[in-house]
Order: sequence, then C-alpha cells, then structure tokens
Amino acid sequence: ATPVAIMVGTGKGAENGILIKSGEALELAHSVDCVVLDKTGTITQGKPTVTDVLPINVTKEQLIEIAGGLEAKSEHPLAEAIMHYTEEQNASILEAENFQSVSGKGVKATIDNNTYFAGNQKMMEESGISTKAYEKDIDRLASEGKTPMIFANQTQILGIMAVADVIKPTSRAAIEKLRQIGIEVTMLTGDNKKTAEGIGRDLPLNHIISEVLPQDKEKVLSQLQKLGKKVAMVGDGINDAPALVRADVGIAIGAGTDVAVESADIILMKNDLMDVVTAIRLSKAVIRNIK
Ligand code: ADP
Ligand code: MG
Repeated sequence: ATPVAIMVGTGKGAENGILIKSGEALELAHSVDCVVLDKTGTITQGKPTVTDVLPINVTKEQLIEIAGGLEAKSEHPLAEAIMHYTEEQNASILEAENFQSVSGKGVKATIDNNTYFAGNQKMMEESGISTKAYEKDIDRLASEGKTPMIFANQTQILGIMAVADVIKPTSRAAIEKLRQIGIEVTMLTGDNKKTAEGIGRDLPLNHIISEVLPQDKEKVLSQLQKLGKKVAMVGDGINDAPALVRADVGIAIGAGTDVAVESADIILMKNDLMDVVTAIRLSKAVIRNIK
C-alpha cells in the first residue's frame, strides 16, 4: 500500500479508537479469514459475580472464610468475584500462607497448617480430591454458562461456588457481522467445556475450543495457521500475550493489560468487539483504494 493510503487508514482508525501500530498490520488485516476470541474479558465483560454457594462438609460461613483466604492473593477475575462476594456478605476471611497459583487450574495455600485448594476439576484430580458425588451439580452449573469453582482441603471437597460472567452487549452482533463477511469465528478459553458451551450456546460461533492452558493458547493458533488460515487473535489478558504475538494480527481489546497492549498489532480503545469488524473493514478499504 502507498504511504498515503496507510496514513489515511491509520487516521480513520484512530478517530474510532482503533490504534494500528504498523502499516503492515493494517495491510494484513484485510486477508484475515479466521478470528479467535478469548472468552473472559473479550466476549464477556470479564467481571464475574458469585451466583451459587454450595457448602459440602462445612457450613456456608466456613466455606466463605476459606474461599476468601485462598483467593485474597490471586489476581484472577474469578478470585475478584469471590473477594467481592465476601465483602458483600461482611464475611471474615481466614489468613492464608504459602499462596501458590497453578496456571489454568486454580490456587492452593496453607490455612492453620493445613493445605487448601480452589480450582477446577483438573486441580482437584491433581490434588487427589474426588468430586464424583458432586459431578451432577458441577455439570448443571457449567451448562448454565457459569464457572464452578471447587474448594477442598487435603482430604475432601468443602464446597462449590459458581461464578457467572455476562456477555458484552455487542458481542453477538459482532460475531454475526464477522460471519457475514466470510470470517470463521472461534472462542478460545481455559474454562471448562460445559461452561464454554453454555456461554457459546447463544452465539453464532463456528468453533469453541476450551480447557486450553494459558501456555497452550499460542499452539492452537499455530495449528490454525498450519491449516493455511490467516488468523487474528483478540484478547485482553496477560495470558493472551503469546497468542497475540503468534497471530497474523494480534488485537488487544479494551482496558487490556499492558502486556497485551505491548504484544498486539492493533489496540481497540473501546471494550467493543464491533471494532474488530471496523478494523478489518478499514483494512479492506485501504487495500481496495490501492488496487
Ligand atoms: P480463562 O482466562 O480463559 O477463563 P484461565 O486459564 O485463566 O482461563 O483459567 C482456567 C480455569 O482455571 C478457570 O476457569 C478456573 O476453573 C481455574 N482457575 C484459575 N484461577 C483460579 C482461581 N484463582 N481460583 C479458582 N479457580 C481458578
Ligand atoms: Mg483470560
């Protein structure tokens, strides 16, 4: 493309809160035929709230104080939901030590010299905790599009708290528009399969790829590229940075983390997936003008 066309395109983008870092990114965006969307914070608002509390083997109060202790040091949006809930309930929270976060699975810490766990079923399996008797509850919550968080000590399950995140108002329409211009749309998430499908149920997605560990998101993109696809990745989190770099076009959305913003080729200032459509359209217009 000519420098003038690029300059005009970049300027039009900026007017719409779409920051395009390079002329190359602007040109490449026109050929994108596959858009991969992170779930939390990209398709959804990323501000999950607690919807269900199911104490098992302890009282509700005990479950909440353990959950608060475990999640106080985690920076995950799920942890924020729990901490917000403990505040709302005016609950006391226990003091935890040796906090450890296990990527894509959950957290563990010591409370009163005992180890406690919070996380998904993978986390529980890894810690030797059986969730079999509660699988029905876990599946039901997940199929409602909620994320079930399981709490346990070293010997048994202590409860389940479900957290739900709301789909952003324009996500559905944006996915529809992408489909209309011939782009394949995939949701990529570390969340469990049933939850991902629950959230995806009302969205016109081509594919849902779930239970992907943060370090494996990038590999999913390489696989799509090996199939010959030109892939744009849209994400907001620290987790997403390697995938944003790997993508043909990396797009950071909204109040994304600094790492995401640094790794991306295009930055959407507004927290709106519709701007992905606008950016691709803009690129197509720039290329058309050159030809
Ligand atoms: P994503 O950002 O795509 O939703 P993550 O890789 O960050 O996925 O997390 C994957 C899963 O790991 C979560 O859905 C949850 O089940 C579990 N998990 C992660 N962090 C925590 C935490 N602080 N407490 C409990 N569970 C967690
Ligand atoms: Mg995320």
